[in-house]
Amino acid sequence: MADLDPARIPELDARLSTLAPVDRLRWAYETFGARAGIGTSFQPAGVVILHLAKTAGLPIQAFTLNTGLLFPETLEFKAKLEAHLGIKVEEVLPAQTVEQQAAQHGAELWKRDPEKCCELRKVDSLGKKLFDLDLWITGMRRDQSAERSVTPLLSLAARPDNSDVWKLNPLVDWSRDQVWAYLKEHGLPHNVLHDRGYRSIGCLPCTLPTSGGDERGGRWPGFEKKECGLHTRTKKGLGG
Ligand code: SF4
Repeated sequence: MADLDPARIPELDARLSTLAPVDRLRWAYETFGARAGIGTSFQPAGVVILHLAKTAGLPIQAFTLNTGLLFPETLEFKAKLEAHLGIKVEEVLPAQTVEQQAAQHGAELWKRDPEKCCELRKVDSLGKKLFDLDLWITGMRRDQSAERSVTPLLSLAARPDNSDVWKLNPLVDWSRDQVWAYLKEHGLPHNVLHDRGYRSIGCLPCTLPTSGGDERGGRWPGFEKKECGLHTRTKKGLGG
């Protein structure tokens, strides 16, 4: 891991806060090199981050968690974006296929216990991937939801063994409008589901279109659940 003392989080966060997102990514690559990785589910913010890294000549690896339950449109968009940017986004898969999970835990676990389903299909996959990284870069923004309104720019997260992994949200202080303006300005594509009213896109069984309110309001309809656990279950509390 880059030799950074977690005690420096306030100082580093303050310095990074004054920089443009592309310079935050430059710091990330210069500090963590091949041990930095962009995690994306191909939401607009992720597209911006991938484009910033690409156009700045920062060869930061990128990965996505393919739960096996993504919308076909999302997978089509992944291929389209990879071709557009000339990049490859690694697919990280769950330990079990959807069928194997159904055999062990029953069919359509997401309808009965979405927390467990997300743990098996997302959180565990991310945990495995975090052992390849010392810095995890995400597209979280403070204006996405009430739950995300205090998201830090730089923090420490935890791998499954509770070891440290740094986490950077380079667009944390961008608004939804800024993100969409960036896509427009640079002629970047977006997932066609956004044109059908989906404002935040996750797995097919757990995502509905929404007309207003929190950007993530269409996720897990009918449940109190607001987060899949990728960010809450890896939170270490330092910098957050
Ligand atoms: S979002 Fe839904 S289908 Fe996807 S892993 Fe979570 S509970 Fe399962």
